[in-house]
Amino acid sequence: IYGSKRRNSRGVNLNIRSHFYPLMDKMAVFMDKQYLAKPLLAFDVADDAANTHSVTCPFDRRQSVGSVQWTTKEQATKALDAAWNAFPRWETTPVTERAAVLRRLADLMEENMPELMTLCSREGGKLLTDGVDEIKEAVDFCRYYAMRAEDSFGEPIELPGPTGESNQLIMGGKGVFAAISPWNFPVAIFCGQIVAAAVAGNTVLAKPAEQTSIVAHRVIELLYEAGLPRDVVQLLPGDGPTVGSVLTSDPRITGVVFTGGTDTAQIINRALAARENAPLPTLIAETGGMNAMIVDSTALPEQVVVDVIQSAFQSAGQRCSALRVLYLQDDVADRVITILKGAMNELRIGDPRDLGTDVGPVIDEEARNGLLEHIEKLKGEDRLVAETPMSAEQTQNGTFVAPVAFTIDSINALTREQFGPVLHIVRYKASELDQVINDINSRGYGLTFGVHSRNESFAAGIAQKIRAGNVYINRNIIGAVVGVQPFGGQGLSGTGPKAGGPNYLQRFITEKTVTNNT
Ligand code: GLU
Repeated sequence: IYGSKRRNSRGVNLNIRSHFYPLMDKMAVFMDKQYLAKPLLAFDVADDAANTHSVTCPFDRRQSVGSVQWTTKEQATKALDAAWNAFPRWETTPVTERAAVLRRLADLMEENMPELMTLCSREGGKLLTDGVDEIKEAVDFCRYYAMRAEDSFGEPIELPGPTGESNQLIMGGKGVFAAISPWNFPVAIFCGQIVAAAVAGNTVLAKPAEQTSIVAHRVIELLYEAGLPRDVVQLLPGDGPTVGSVLTSDPRITGVVFTGGTDTAQIINRALAARENAPLPTLIAETGGMNAMIVDSTALPEQVVVDVIQSAFQSAGQRCSALRVLYLQDDVADRVITILKGAMNELRIGDPRDLGTDVGPVIDEEARNGLLEHIEKLKGEDRLVAETPMSAEQTQNGTFVAPVAFTIDSINALTREQFGPVLHIVRYKASELDQVINDINSRGYGLTFGVHSRNESFAAGIAQKIRAGNVYINRNIIGAVVGVQPFGGQGLSGTGPKAGGPNYLQRFITEKTVTNNT
């Protein structure tokens, strides 16, 4: 199912649609452009060469994208003063005006798709196909949250009742939100967090991941072009200890919206709780997963493999939603593994800007080293099932990790999430199913989950028993669609509410009841 049938004679994936090619021409001008991303604050920031860091491409560290000037502690505190002062004005700006800014940003991101995609690739190592999905998701977040805000907060809710008074429920912002975002969705999640907080009436201090500050900077420039006042959303590129510590220690921060590792969410939670004389904060955290898929003996092996390859190796496995543990029922395991080996052998690793590439680099050296340590350990235990071949010349200057699959005994053999293209396979007998479900649930994470079966009641029964935020039946387990597949987990995987869902904005607002007896 992989290999020649899927590619044309130039090695290009046949499932890439024709509309892709015009974009490639427009991307060319951004391929070598050098960028400087400075903090974008309510006040001007002087050049600071000593505090400026260079940015290189994950697929070739000899290539430069430009540099990023990090925010100092003093600038972060001054930005917070500005955000605090801007809040009452922004909160009372009509919802329709706030929503209009989001819609203009959506249009601008579509217009600037070639540049944003190029940056996702050069800075974040993303495949061009992933880049298109990423920008479209950001656009969807803007339009969806604009619509939800107008529908939910446009007018106070009148609550007439037996008291004879007039009662109104009025929705307002909470105050200043810190938005702390990851490098794996440097436009979609970065933008989704910010626009949700802002359209709900909050001012925002956004700290992008260190690895992807340049594309974040470009999005905020577009947000200002869309008409957003500079003191409503400010960009604070920098490192966690410097910028993050201001954002989690100051009592004027009323909420934090965070996507990243479970450990970091716990650090943020503790820091917020330790503040003295601070209001009880809102923490919206979307964190890691140890996502499993159960395949029973009635499943179609070919379809299982297509979905496993996408779930485990698309975006080089660097999605919170990615598949980490594949449970195969004994009767079907050999067949699935045979096809999986063939498919993994055909995957192409390389430059993410090449349309023939299936798997790009992981984000940086630290990520690669962590993954390689885990891979070497399992290889040492003789657990290797399959590994995609990797050519030295194409990958020697970047941080690549070849997709790899191992057998393990159960999900409990994994001590932590491996955020990369590493798949673990567990064989189970039909009689062990309850134990399998119990193992998955008791591991404590609960983000995505998949089941492959042609037995409808079996699939529905498992979906009901598994504790996970997003359950997928007979398909891959990645790529939740805004508005129809609200995304987010439970337990160690996050606090909820679900991004792109109808209840997301509710966590960003306060409600005031006004009862009038005159
Ligand atoms: N929403 C993405 C998906 O459904 C994953 C987001 C993440 O990795 O944080 O694949």
